[in-house]
Parts: sequence; structure tokens; C-alpha cells
Amino acid sequence: MNMIFLGAPGAGKGTQAEVVCKELNIPAISTGNMLREAVKNGTAAGLAAKEYMDRGDLVPDEVVIGILKDRIAMDDAKNGFILDGFPRTVPQAEALEKMGVRIDKVIEIDVPDEAITKRMSGRRVCEGCGNSYHIEFKPTKVEGVCDACGAKVVQRADDKPETVLARLATYHEKTAPLKDFYQSKGKLVTVSGQNGIEETSRLTLAAIKG
Ligand code: AMP
Repeated sequence: MNMIFLGAPGAGKGTQAEVVCKELNIPAISTGNMLREAVKNGTAAGLAAKEYMDRGDLVPDEVVIGILKDRIAMDDAKNGFILDGFPRTVPQAEALEKMGVRIDKVIEIDVPDEAITKRMSGRRVCEGCGNSYHIEFKPTKVEGVCDACGAKVVQRADDKPETVLARLATYHEKTAPLKDFYQSKGKLVTVSGQNGIEETSRLTLAAIKG
């Protein structure tokens, strides 16, 4: 099954993708994680992406589409995948169609902006494997250390309050139109992301299986 997780930054796409990919044994593909890795490694894509990410803007479509195309061509994505953070614009969604990628379901995790801005200050990410944490809602077992890989867990530079507001504005302007795009194709299912991680996982799995 090929799925897209759609939602505002901080809605819980990454957290739910981690849960669902274990349950269904398919990879979660996060363009944000891949871009952060590219920035860290100083690759050409990373250099092209950094200034946009720092401002809370979207990285140009051609950069992200190239990265995504290479990733979904890999062997582990043959039996399905979850896209977390892609597509983020209508041209990206059209690029997926042009690549011949079939999308079975689009799960929108819906959280109002007020709740997002409150959540973001506690959000943390693993520098090594990209796993997501939250100091209140999903703490690591050992403070500052990733449960999965043991690397350092840090706050993302783009989770500062000013950048979060810019990212939310970008989401409403450029990404939210994808709801209509996939609704018109009968693929969109919306779940509430407001009732805690476990309840959101239950709703998400029910939406996938239903
Ligand atoms: P995320 O981890 O999904 O919140 O992504 C972090 C940042 O990476 C975003 O604010 C964008 O600057 C960039 N990014 C991630 N995915 C995409 C995408 N599909 N298109 C454009 N920019 C992206």
C-alpha cells in the first residue's frame, strides 16, 4: 500500500508514520529527514535546500522531487511506503503521477494551528536516525538520547517560534490545497490528531484498514 501522510508541521505525521510503518512493515519516507541529512553531509541538494529550510520556506520542487524519486526506486519501497512530508505542493503531487506512482490513500492528520504552536516548543528529533520525540508527550527513555539508535536528540533549528509561524503560513498557502486535490480523487481520509499519540495511531490504522 502506498500512502501519503498530510498535515501541518507538528501535526504528528512523523510520529504516526513510525508507528504505522512498523505495523505494516513498509518504510516511512520523510523528505524533511532526507533534506536534514543532505544538509548535514553538505551534498549539492543539501546546499540548495538549507536557506529555504532555515526560513521555513519550501525547498524548490525540482530539488525535492529528485530526492524522492531516487528514494522510492529503492528495493525496500517495492511493497509500499508512507510518504511523510511529500508532496507539499500540487506540482509535487502531479510529479508523483507523472512518475507513475500509484497512491492508495492520503491520511490527513488534522490539528488546529493553536495546538501546533503550543506543541512545537517541546518537539525533539534524533540527529542520527531522524526519529521524533516530544519532551512531554513522547520523551526518550534517557534524556537527550535516542531510544532507537543512541544518537543525540536535539531541537530542530526550524522549530523556533518565528519559523514555526512561517512554516504554518506556508502549509496553508501551498500544501493545504492538496486536500482538495486528493479529495476529488476519492483518496483523502481525515483523522483528528488532537487526542494523544495512541488514540491518533488507533484512528490512523483504522483509516488505513477501513
Ligand atoms: P519536515 O521535517 O517535513 O517538517 O520538513 C522540514 C523542512 O524541509 C520544510 O520546512 C521544508 O523547508 C523542507 N521540506 C521537506 N519536505 C519538503 C517538500 N516535500 N517540499 C519542499 N520542501 C520540503
